[in-house]
Amino acid sequence: MKNPAHTGGVLHVWRFEGAGTRENEPWLLSISPFYVRIVERGMKKAIFIPILLFGFGVAAASPAAGFSVRLSNTYPTQGDTVMISVTGSASAPLTATLGDQTANFFSFGGNSVAVLGLKVTAQTGWQSITVRFAGGPAIIKRIDVFKKQIVTEKLEVPPSLGVTAPQLIQGLKDENAVIGNIVAAVTPQSYVTRNFGLPLADNRYITDRYGILRKTGDQGIWHLGTDFAAAPSTAVGAMNAGVVRFATSTFSYGNMVIVDHGEGIYSMYLHMNKILVTVGQAVRQGQTLGLVGDTGFSTGDHLHLSIKINGISVDPLQFVQIFR
Ligand SMILES: [Zn+2]
Repeated sequence: MKNPAHTGGVLHVWRFEGAGTRENEPWLLSISPFYVRIVERGMKKAIFIPILLFGFGVAAASPAAGFSVRLSNTYPTQGDTVMISVTGSASAPLTATLGDQTANFFSFGGNSVAVLGLKVTAQTGWQSITVRFAGGPAIIKRIDVFKKQIVTEKLEVPPSLGVTAPQLIQGLKDENAVIGNIVAAVTPQSYVTRNFGLPLADNRYITDRYGILRKTGDQGIWHLGTDFAAAPSTAVGAMNAGVVRFATSTFSYGNMVIVDHGEGIYSMYLHMNKILVTVGQAVRQGQTLGLVGDTGFSTGDHLHLSIKINGISVDPLQFVQIFR
């Protein structure tokens, strides 16, 4: 689907804003109690498009003056995270829902925020995020999900790993089931008070990005994290404050630590040669969780970093950006 912001410059900028921020502009269109403001002049036909897309987003809300619901990104790509920020609302925002995924709001940077993850295979095109408030009202915001350019590679299983491709795939399936259970749990509070950081002192040496599909025969393995090359035994720091939920050696992922940041957000650190934390331990941002290694299905010293939001693996590099 075409992105209206990219249709030949007819509508460069348009926003959907809450009541109470009304401005005296010639192309202002009122849709009580909300309106769509067309900043760039365009054809009348073009103006009706955003009205159809956005004009019915209000259901019985009675927001205060200055009330706003903002998205970090209206045009995300598959694998991205979307943050919903609410300010100035008289009634507390409770949940944000996208398809079968529901996230709670929590306090961050003076706003109420909720984060939703898009799978690497998420449906593309326009979709609705429903924001519900205490007392019943709801607001619908729309996102237009773009297709991610997927890199496909042949899965190489070097003899040094000591397994066949089918054994490797079975090991991943088994361990992904265990991980899936851990990260499906939503701790109903956030441990996060600061922006997320990257885990190494030097994060420049990215060897594999999020969204690579490694194929072997008719099977495919998604690489749904970011790989950072680093010298063995480089310290791996927690991306943010949280509680350790997993700190054990695994068959596929080697020594792995999973940190729960609350409200369905988890960070995962794989292939380490040493683990320096224990399950249940509270960690602060930057605290050393372990040391970079080459354990599990790995062919060189590196850190694999994954982020899970409500059980969905999202692009760690884009995730870090939305908190800034
Ligand atoms: Zn990796």
